Amino acid sequence: MIHVLGIDIGGTKISAVVTDQNGTKKLHRMVSTKGYLGKDHVLKTLKVLIQEIKNEFSAEIKAIGVGTPGYVDARLGKVIYSCGIIKDWVEVALAQELGQLFQLPIAVENDANAAAIGEGWLGAAQDMDQYMVITLGTSLGGAYVNGSGGVLHGYGWCGGEIGHSILYPNGKECRCGQRGCAELYLSGTAIVNRFRELGGISANCEDVFRAMEQKDAKALVVREEFVDDLAVLLISLQNILDPQAFIISGGLIHTKKHWWDNLQQLLSSKSNSGVNINVLPAQLLNLAGSLGAARIALNLVEHNHESLS
Ligand SMILES: [Zn+2]
Repeated sequence: MIHVLGIDIGGTKISAVVTDQNGTKKLHRMVSTKGYLGKDHVLKTLKVLIQEIKNEFSAEIKAIGVGTPGYVDARLGKVIYSCGIIKDWVEVALAQELGQLFQLPIAVENDANAAAIGEGWLGAAQDMDQYMVITLGTSLGGAYVNGSGGVLHGYGWCGGEIGHSILYPNGKECRCGQRGCAELYLSGTAIVNRFRELGGISANCEDVFRAMEQKDAKALVVREEFVDDLAVLLISLQNILDPQAFIISGGLIHTKKHWWDNLQQLLSSKSNSGVNINVLPAQLLNLAGSLGAARIALNLVEHNHESLS
């Protein structure tokens, strides 16, 4: 039995799983990322975590996969750029650094891509040839997977970054320098901000959804706008990529009872007549990233076996 370690570096937590080649989970650990402390701190936390797991897990781990925020050169296993979730998380040669220390093959992938690979391996997109995973969390991410070509990385390793596709020309100013980026309208943060703009009082996203449940007029406007924007984005993506399904992931999927039916109705009324848009909830949720990272680690091992045989 081959065992691999999959690690997902998130904004608040680092999640690690050991699996066998069937994806059976043998061990799961979580530690705080504390990304605000910067690159050196996160790297040290990562190394300590890997060493502890290696010490604790009785069988041999054959490879490590890592999912991380930012633009990732998956060929070199290096984070090229990221926009502040982890301080100074730029030019991080993860595969080289971890490979030298642990003497293991290391695969590195963007976190949204890793989550999409996870959903395809063990989750909602099993057996699908072409699909797109949309992550609706504190920010908006995406990853397009094509069975024959794998994840769409793009020329500059930022393919699938739908959060910065423009939804409103001349709209709100984004931290990326553009205006009207989709992330400013479609994320947990956006929902809270919009509710407050309308005069609503909320500390977090749950407050807004609670207000929705109580038929608060401002919260209902927020929902209407959110669903409308999401439908527009999905219809555009459907026309560009024509995936078999969109898998919706991220923290907001836990609130889907408030907006799922409205979204389905809008999709069928707004999309062009020849298009059938299939939208499904993610299955692996918080584990998608680490399981996807385990899958890319396994790819390395299986590839090595193939080239040796
Ligand atoms: Zn932007």
